[in-house]
Amino acid sequence: MVPTLIFAAAAAVMPPPSSCTVSAPPGASAVNATSLTALAWAPFHRPEIGWLVYAPKIAAEIATTCAVATPGFAAAMGNWQRGHRLAPTGVFDPLTFAAMKARWQNARPFVHIDGRAACPPPPADNRLATAIPSESYGKTIRLRAGALAAFRAMLTIAKRDPAIAAEPRSLTIFSGYRDPASDAARCTTDGNCNGIVRATCSAHRTGLAVDLWVGSAPGQRPDSSGDSNRAAMTAGPQYRWLLANAARFGFVNYVFEPWHWEWTGEAI
Ligand SMILES: [Zn+2]
Repeated sequence: MVPTLIFAAAAAVMPPPSSCTVSAPPGASAVNATSLTALAWAPFHRPEIGWLVYAPKIAAEIATTCAVATPGFAAAMGNWQRGHRLAPTGVFDPLTFAAMKARWQNARPFVHIDGRAACPPPPADNRLATAIPSESYGKTIRLRAGALAAFRAMLTIAKRDPAIAAEPRSLTIFSGYRDPASDAARCTTDGNCNGIVRATCSAHRTGLAVDLWVGSAPGQRPDSSGDSNRAAMTAGPQYRWLLANAARFGFVNYVFEPWHWEWTGEAI
């Protein structure tokens, strides 16, 4: 009976083929199919080609499970654009992404599109709890107690997914609370300040941000922001699971970094 149940669950989330072949703005699906790997743009102030990295997040945003090249995806894109006062072309473009990105960034308490008045102070030491080694793949990781509890609740459910359970590094925490002084020192010694974010005001100083293992491309690090690496991450089961479920546990993603999630259950 178990295979039947699994099939039933899969059928519940996968649309029937007809919903992906609905009518859509003429030509939109062909443009989307091409631009997916060819669009030249700079969504985060550096040149990128294509939007494979963001396609899963975009599909979730426009509430479709249809493949990018289908009319169903273009129709869902058009509906989303219409609902957000954009021309309902059904074609994904940088202007549409900018509107989506604004929504995603606004969901992060740490970042507000209108600008942050001041960098928040780090939490008092007694508000931080320490992850157990299996949660952090052996690293010493501290988080605010509420964030760690929410992470544990999420991980328990995530491990019911066979693809996540099969990989012991799945969703382990490789960075949590980082005190501002050591972050600034690391910025200097590494010669890498993430565009001064680490030096001046990282979300990790709040104790609410976690970097989670969501895989990597062969030979690449789990926090490397190379485009091929990020595309491998967002295509993998860990990120896909987080995309579908993390919000239920209060976690939101910084979309440029598939591994970076912030807990929203407590004021900064
Ligand atoms: Zn991070």
